[in-house]
Amino acid sequence: MKKLLASLFMIFTMLGCTFSPLPFEDDASSQTVNTTLVCAKQIDVYQLSINGIKPPKAAFDLYLKKLKKYTTNNVVVHESINFTVEEKRINNFIQHYGNGDRNIYGLSYDDKEKFVNFRKKTEESDSAIVMIYTPELLCSRDNHQLRGYAFSHSDRVNIVAYNGPTINKAPVISDTQAWKIVLTHEVGHRLGVPAKKTHNKAGHCTSRECIMYARPDTKAVLSVLFHGMPYDFCDKCKAELREAKKSCESGSYIHYETVNIDTDNIKQK
Ligand SMILES: [Zn+2]
Ligand SMILES: [Zn+2]
Repeated sequence: MKKLLASLFMIFTMLGCTFSPLPFEDDASSQTVNTTLVCAKQIDVYQLSINGIKPPKAAFDLYLKKLKKYTTNNVVVHESINFTVEEKRINNFIQHYGNGDRNIYGLSYDDKEKFVNFRKKTEESDSAIVMIYTPELLCSRDNHQLRGYAFSHSDRVNIVAYNGPTINKAPVISDTQAWKIVLTHEVGHRLGVPAKKTHNKAGHCTSRECIMYARPDTKAVLSVLFHGMPYDFCDKCKAELREAKKSCESGSYIHYETVNIDTDNIKQK
């Protein structure tokens, strides 16, 4: 039992969002639900796999179900592309995704062309989510391995990166269970939940049963025992997403302006 509790505790450390101390806004703050994404007529999902890293199919399927549920239910998954990148160049490649052709680190001539076409396609989309699966993803502040990383390339291109080996290191729970949590958690950052300051602490949800909860503590472990794995948003986050979705239907939503803050890295882009 003790071992199980310790392991469950570890689950919460795998979300890649646990920085201490938080450099800003350690108190309650608010953000806006990303209506550009929630209200998009179509969301194009593009997948980019580096050195063979891929999520388990069951985890990806659950993620897709959630994404459809909380947006306008029209998600198109495009064919994924694969790259081989030298290990030490991977992190730069991901972090500079948006910097134009000059900064495509470590790609071979053929892959570079493939990537330019890929990025062009994502930019032509009205609303895109680019999912990058990688064996390496470092925090720019202290170089520790992150589990996930969410940022934007423009107000229409959302980028979520996932560090396969780090996600798979979660003890007790299976790789699939771990991926189920991290896949949706990162896209939650791009959806803009938790929104209201009543349950938002530095971009993460204060509800322990929420997939957007960031920090491990004893109560969070107990919450897993009583409520099961946090595969979904809590009621407050759900209500905010529902409200945003309703505003799309009535046409009354305000166009979301991209705030280029990656809440997992607390880094201004
Ligand atoms: Zn996070
Ligand atoms: Zn929540």
